[in-house]
Amino acid sequence: MTGTPIIPHSRPTLGPEEAEALAAVTRSGQLAQGPQVAEFERAMAAWMGLSGGVAVSSGTAGLQLALSAVGVGPGDEVILPSYVCSALWLAATRIGAAPRLVDIDPATYALDPAHVKKAVTTRTRAVIVPHPFGLPADLAKLRPLRVPLIEDCAQTLGAMQGGCPVGSVGQAVVCSFYATKLLCTGEGGMVLSNDEAVLEKVRALREYDEQSTLNPAAFNHKMTDLQGALGLCQLNRLSSFLKRRAEIAEAYRAAFAGLPIELPNAPPDRTHVYYRFVIRFRAKGDRRSRAREAWRVDGILARLERQGIQCRRPVFRPLHRYLGEEGYPETERATDTTLSVPIYPSLRDDEIQRITRTVGEELKEALT
Ligand SMILES: *Cc1c(COP(=O)(O)O)cnc(C)c1O
Repeated sequence: MTGTPIIPHSRPTLGPEEAEALAAVTRSGQLAQGPQVAEFERAMAAWMGLSGGVAVSSGTAGLQLALSAVGVGPGDEVILPSYVCSALWLAATRIGAAPRLVDIDPATYALDPAHVKKAVTTRTRAVIVPHPFGLPADLAKLRPLRVPLIEDCAQTLGAMQGGCPVGSVGQAVVCSFYATKLLCTGEGGMVLSNDEAVLEKVRALREYDEQSTLNPAAFNHKMTDLQGALGLCQLNRLSSFLKRRAEIAEAYRAAFAGLPIELPNAPPDRTHVYYRFVIRFRAKGDRRSRAREAWRVDGILARLERQGIQCRRPVFRPLHRYLGEEGYPETERATDTTLSVPIYPSLRDDEIQRITRTVGEELKEALT
C-alpha cells in the first residue's frame, strides 16, 4: 500500500458553476422537465450541428426510442457490434427486435463495415454504430449500405472522420450523459436528428400524460430540469474538457512510447477525443496465447489497483460471450489483450505523473 488515495478509473468533472446551476433550479421550484431541458436540447443540437434533440432519462432509453422512431419493430433485425456494453442489446430486444452481432475492426475497435455488409438481410431495419472510446467508426463505408444508421455517440462527441463530425450521418444520433461520460447530468441521454418526424416520434414515446391516444409503447423516459441545468453547464465547458483530454493523451503517448504495447490508433482521416485511453498487448491469435494474455492483464489490473491506480477492461464482457456464441475473433482478442488507463479532465498534474510513472513501471516489468 502506498497510503496515497486511489485514482479512480473515471470521475466526473464538476465545479462551482454546476453547484450554482443546481441551486438555481432548486430555488425556482420547477424540477421536472421544463425550460432547462428545452434549452439543453436546443444547445446540444446546435453544438452537434443538428436541427433538434429530445432529452431522455438515459442513453439506453435513447437507443430504444431511436430504434422505434426509425421504424424498427418486433422481428426486425438490428446489426450491432459484440464488443460493446449490454445497453445496445437491451434496447433492441426490449422492442422485440433481433440483434445481429458482428465483429470489430482491430485497428479502431469499431464496427467492421465489411462484416456489417455481410450481415445485412432483407429483415435488417437498422445498424447501431457506436463510436468507441472517442474515435469515429468508419462512417464513410457504412453510409452507402442503405440501412438506417443510429449513431451511438455515448463515448464520442466532437470527433471527425473524413471532414464529417460524428452525428452527421445517422438518421438518429444517441448521446448518454451518465455520470462519467464526456458530458454528464448524472443519468440522462438525448436523441438528436435532422428528421423532424423522428424527433416527433421520440417525443411521443418519452411521456404518457395528455396524449391523444393510449399508446402502449410510450412510457416515462423524461429528463428533469435539474439534469438539464447540469447539462447546459457541462456543454459550456465541453471544448475545454476535450482539450484537456487531448493533453493527457499526449502525456501518456510520450510516457508509454518505449513499451511493447499498442497505443490508441487515430487513422489519418479521423480525430480522437480520448473518452478512453486503451492500450493493447501483443498476443498471438490462438486461444491458448490469448487466455495467457487475459490472465496477465488480470494480474496487471490487480497490481495497479494495489498501487492506487484503477485501470479497467474497456468493455466488461462482449455480448457474444454473454450469449454463449462462438466466433468474433477480433472482439475476443480485444477483450483479452486491452486495458483502459484513467483519463478525464479533472485529473490533476500530480495524478497524471503518478499514472505515467506507476503504469509505465508496471508494464515494463510485466512485459519485458
Ligand atoms: C454508456 C453507454 C451507453 C448507455 O448509456 P446509459 O446512459 O448508461 O444508459 C450506450 N452506448 C455506449 C457506447 C455507452 O458508452
